[in-house]
Amino acid sequence: ASSNAPQQVCVLGSTGSIGTNTLDVIARHPDRYRVFALSAMSRVDELLAQCLTHQPRFAVLPDARLAADLRHRLADAGSRTEVMDGLQALSDIAAHPEVDAVMAAIVGAAGLAPAMAAARAGKRLLLANKEAIVLGGALFMRAVEQGGATLLPIDSEHSAIFQCLPEDRSTWHARIDHIVLTASGGPFRQRDPASLADVTPEQACAHPNWVMGRKISVDSATMMNKALEVIEARWLFNLQPEQVKVLIHPQSIIHSMVVCRDHSVLAQLGTPDMRVPIAYGLSFPERITSGASRLDLLTTQGLSFEEADERRFPGLHLSWRALRSAEGSTAVLNAANEEAVAAFLNRGLRFDQICRVNRETLDAVAPQAGEVDSVEGLLALDARARRHAQSQIQRLSSPA
Ligand code: NAD
Ligand code: MG
Repeated sequence: ASSNAPQQVCVLGSTGSIGTNTLDVIARHPDRYRVFALSAMSRVDELLAQCLTHQPRFAVLPDARLAADLRHRLADAGSRTEVMDGLQALSDIAAHPEVDAVMAAIVGAAGLAPAMAAARAGKRLLLANKEAIVLGGALFMRAVEQGGATLLPIDSEHSAIFQCLPEDRSTWHARIDHIVLTASGGPFRQRDPASLADVTPEQACAHPNWVMGRKISVDSATMMNKALEVIEARWLFNLQPEQVKVLIHPQSIIHSMVVCRDHSVLAQLGTPDMRVPIAYGLSFPERITSGASRLDLLTTQGLSFEEADERRFPGLHLSWRALRSAEGSTAVLNAANEEAVAAFLNRGLRFDQICRVNRETLDAVAPQAGEVDSVEGLLALDARARRHAQSQIQRLSSPA
């Protein structure tokens, strides 16, 4: 596309929390962005409405039956959007020659293949799907480099770090002493850890500062979200595990900080609104309006910080343990967590057992030679870790 033509954007996971926020930002800038493709897993009604509003060239639904349903309803409405089905369609659309930017906002390991496809095809890759980079690790970062893709972090903490760093990546290593990821502490920050056994999915999903999908909401409550973010930061900014630190900051105003070699501290602040990192991902290195409200420091009730206590947040510390273990261990941790969270949401596992399943699976499943060298190998490792986690879940949920 020529520099004045609108950027063609593919939104993977368009019906989710990040997906809908992305469409909100895009709709504010019709001169700059055009929706080329949308995708969802289910929620056909919402995908249909999005297609009618944004008129993409393509819509992808992996399930053939749901895709046929959408196809009929779009045709009835006189839409020219073409519907594709099958998992391969997600990768095909992410790598489509006419696509300039891909928003990777699928939740979980299912997003790895399309994100890799976008990386290899050299797209501007807006990465919200943290599980993809936690699973993909070095392989994913190599695909970005070899494909000539521009990787833009969408996770608010990583966007904050990215915004505090110069455009020239080659200067990052010499500049950074360490980074500090801020964490709200989630809904149970002040609760007695011994009382977490009977937390319900509804309680876990009620986050104090952000409205998000259910999986990441549970991750925020267990602090596994921050664990995944530590791993994500290690890869995005090429840091040693001990260069990534975490601090509890309940107000979610400072989104993260870079501590430079000279001990100057750079922070990025704003209201908690994902449209800011999304807008920056879309417009980098420029800035565009996002729809987020202004931060009014005069009405902010002070900014406070607390240590991320290992006893209160045992899940968080599994990130460093996995990063210091064999390559691929972070994939094991992620797989265990996806299974444990799904079981918890289906009321098949207690809240306080999520971390136990994660730790026991991390310790039991060792990555094998070759498993980290290809997407297929990583997915095999992912499947092995899921089977182990499943057996743990079975054991914990059946009475002794
Ligand atoms: P969500 O559950 O609201 O949306 C997920 C989207 O992915 C939906 O469109 C769904 O249809 C699609 N999807 C789910 N499973 C799929 C599968 N197997 N194959 C294809 N598509 C599938 O989740 P979300 O809150 O928007 O989060 C998306 C990603 O962004 C997650 O990785 C999350 O960790 C990350 N993230 C979210 C936020 C946030 O504020 N919501 C912030 C930072 C990072
Ligand atoms: Mg985050």
